[in-house]
Amino acid sequence: MTLLRLGIVALAVALVSHRAAGQAAPPATRAAAPAVTLVEKPWEKLSHKKLMEFGEKALGADPHAWLHGETEHFVFHFHELGDAQKVGELAEAYYRQIQIDLGVTQDRLARKNHVFIYDDEEAWQQFVKIIRLDEWAMGVARRTELFLYSPRGRGFAVGSLGHEITHCIFYRFESNPIPLWLNEGFAEFESGHAYAKFKGLDERRGRGWGGGVPFPLKRLLTAVKYPKEEEIPRFYATSERLVRFLLTTQDRKKFLPFVEMVAKGAKSEDALLFLYHDQFKSFAAFADAFDKFNQPSADKYGR
Ligand SMILES: [Zn+2]
Repeated sequence: MTLLRLGIVALAVALVSHRAAGQAAPPATRAAAPAVTLVEKPWEKLSHKKLMEFGEKALGADPHAWLHGETEHFVFHFHELGDAQKVGELAEAYYRQIQIDLGVTQDRLARKNHVFIYDDEEAWQQFVKIIRLDEWAMGVARRTELFLYSPRGRGFAVGSLGHEITHCIFYRFESNPIPLWLNEGFAEFESGHAYAKFKGLDERRGRGWGGGVPFPLKRLLTAVKYPKEEEIPRFYATSERLVRFLLTTQDRKKFLPFVEMVAKGAKSEDALLFLYHDQFKSFAAFADAFDKFNQPSADKYGR
């Protein structure tokens, strides 16, 4: 399965699982939200113009076929300034929140992420064909590049947009491959969490596990490819729950060392037991605590 296909599956599922998404995080520090104003700029004046393979294909032979602009961490290529400003504001808000949640102050990359926003169906379909995405795809993140389709006048699906933005921001802080559940679970978690923080919403209201059967934990932790289609919603939902469990019920400072440990090749199970050993003396104890976390309506917020 190619990375492309993974991205597509991820986006499709984000649309589904966002509705049934996990439960509450405790109130945490809200990212300070300076106003983000994306200002249109000529191609020649952009502070970063180096694109990767997909970006080169999207840009095409003539950069002037696109409008351009940038914010602190993102360069945008678009046709409708309003679309780009909307995504720009959201993307910077996600960036700030993800920094807080990971507890990182130093970005690994100096260069900016590139975001292409298509609003024309024919042009999007052409791009989709070139990079061999499925034709129903609405967006994909590839390393630090993000490609979105915003049908004219219909806007973006916020959950899937946040999910894909998270993937390309996460890559800035950890570029080594991390386990599938962690990558998708973190994108799912932030798609709801960072958005709630950005909007000043209490994400605990109306969100909970809901009592569905979780994806088997051992299989989740060792999965190197996506499960079959009918299991995908459970796979995403359980991944989100596990990230939520680690970030909201455990010492948050251990999360980034955990990410770094598995990115260096440790098995998820070993890294969990190594870093959270003060809480869990065995994998069975960990699984038991996670299972309890997944019981519906344990408190008024469904935690
Ligand atoms: Zn994804």
